[in-house]
Amino acid sequence: MNESTFQCSICYNDVDNKSEIYRITSCHCQFCQQCVRQYVISQVNIGSATIRCPANGCNDSLSTNEIRSFLTNAQFNLYNKLLLDYEVAKDPRRFFCPHMDCGHILAVPDARKQRSITCTRCHNPICSKCRRQWHSTEDCTRLLISYANPIHSDIKQCPRCSVLLERVNGCAQITCVICKHIFCWYCLRSLENDFFLLHYERGSCRNRLGHSRLSLFLHRLLTIGLFLLLIFLLIVTSPLLILILPYLFCCGQKQIRNYFDRSSRGEHRSSTPYQSVIDIV
Ligand SMILES: [Zn+2]
Ligand SMILES: [Zn+2]
Ligand SMILES: [Zn+2]
Ligand SMILES: [Zn+2]
Ligand SMILES: [Zn+2]
Ligand SMILES: [Zn+2]
Repeated sequence: MNESTFQCSICYNDVDNKSEIYRITSCHCQFCQQCVRQYVISQVNIGSATIRCPANGCNDSLSTNEIRSFLTNAQFNLYNKLLLDYEVAKDPRRFFCPHMDCGHILAVPDARKQRSITCTRCHNPICSKCRRQWHSTEDCTRLLISYANPIHSDIKQCPRCSVLLERVNGCAQITCVICKHIFCWYCLRSLENDFFLLHYERGSCRNRLGHSRLSLFLHRLLTIGLFLLLIFLLIVTSPLLILILPYLFCCGQKQIRNYFDRSSRGEHRSSTPYQSVIDIV
């Protein structure tokens, strides 16, 4: 190995071309470009928000600009999200809205002043003490126990066929895998005819669907859209139906006439066994 050759301590390959050597800004540790790139991408893929120098025993981190230079735009967006999650989780003054699909960052309120707060983006209520979705009757500690104990919170019996069902995501509208019955996870009431999910607008299950107002709105819009499409198709196809109706009617008449002609000539045999017996008798 001559003095201009560098050996990467990750892949142990000799690197002759100086432009293929990468020097980390903070600690000056050096590796081949290829290894640092793969390392940074793998760190993002496993969800690391802070990416440390890959050298053994070196605790320095790569800067955001450095990380960016190794990632595609999509990968860098993912990294930024990881970084934000990490920073908010670390920050005692901020927290994420607990409602599904919202993810808005909120300032931690004074729980002694106000127990119920409303998310400024999805407008769903939040308990300011435990920072979970709003709960009026249970106290926070009981709620935390039921969250921690999935046997009690995530397994229920289908009210129609009694099969045990496990809820895997946060949605409260459940379709039984066995009998296809659709019901509310919390109160077990049927949601079969509740196309617009109005059940989650009132009563004890209000705002407990587990989706943001926006996705509920989109669901309703889609349902209305499907109804309108059906009506539209009916209107479009009705002139066609009117056009072919006389033809169908004529054919039908002809067939009936043929049928009577044949039966009057004694050709007709009924297909039901009962009448065949009578014929034989
Ligand atoms: Zn290497
Ligand atoms: Zn280093
Ligand atoms: Zn929200
Ligand atoms: Zn609470
Ligand atoms: Zn069922
Ligand atoms: Zn319900």
